[in-house]
Amino acid sequence: MIQKINEDLAIFRDDNYPFLGGGNKARKMMALHEKLKSENYNAIVTTGGIQSNHCRVTALYCHKYNIECTLVLHGDKDKFLTESGNAKIIRNTPTKIIFSEIDQISSNMDKAIDNYKSQEKKPFYLYGGGHTFEGGKAYIDVIQELIEYDYIPDYIFIASGTGSTHAGLLAGIAKFKFKTKVVGISVGRSKNNAEKVVSKFAKELSENYKISNGIGKTEVDDSFLCGGYGFYNDDIKKLSGNSLIDYNIFLDTTYTGKAFYGMKKYIENNAIKGKILFWYTGGIYNYLAK
Ligand SMILES: *Cc1c(COP(=O)(O)O)cnc(C)c1O
Repeated sequence: MIQKINEDLAIFRDDNYPFLGGGNKARKMMALHEKLKSENYNAIVTTGGIQSNHCRVTALYCHKYNIECTLVLHGDKDKFLTESGNAKIIRNTPTKIIFSEIDQISSNMDKAIDNYKSQEKKPFYLYGGGHTFEGGKAYIDVIQELIEYDYIPDYIFIASGTGSTHAGLLAGIAKFKFKTKVVGISVGRSKNNAEKVVSKFAKELSENYKISNGIGKTEVDDSFLCGGYGFYNDDIKKLSGNSLIDYNIFLDTTYTGKAFYGMKKYIENNAIKGKILFWYTGGIYNYLAK
């Protein structure tokens, strides 16, 4: 669904994606469903922080489809046990939780995979953030919806984390031959690193799904990191606090608030004109977590 704010600005309500609590992680997860089902996977191992949208979605998916789930979580265990938001939703599922130091995540994930295999299970190794070809494909396909809503923007702004949502949108725009520019607002990575990762994945997606039109320029703005992942400034905090009355969405300070703030600054600084679409990837659970 597209929510119009004014003549120039609209919001793509990806938070209303109607499965697993919505948001971009839910859309990516459901895109994997056919593969998991047809190849008879019966367990998933993945990773994220204690308030990870991706981990919430994976835990709910596994519960719904009755497959086993191990989350390798990083962060504070006491907070995980007491906070609301995604942590609370995960706690209400029968998910197995392993707490891990950051540098031990991949070895803990490997162990969890081996553990399922030793029980004659078929586990799926799911990268953090739900980074898969299928997840990227979901964002190629979603461009079709813009045609249905008759809203072809000149610019899309999106919070850029692992970059797979950004890359999928770029490949989708190439497929449908739109001239839309996509600007990722980095929530943690440097511009150079983020642009490299996004263009590489967009290229891989276009090869994998046989999109022959060239991928547009990959642009990531890292001017609004405020010191890194999870950090924010007073303006972002204020924008977040007023987001429900101003825009009828919850802008959290880690992802969507940072991206929305970055978008506003980018528009100002570059004096851009035309139809703008803010891709609202979800955020209510993060906003209400603490
Ligand atoms: C994960 C996440 C993102 C970033 O998506 P990527 O595909 O990892 O770049 C943006 N917004 C929200 C709310 C998220 O949970």
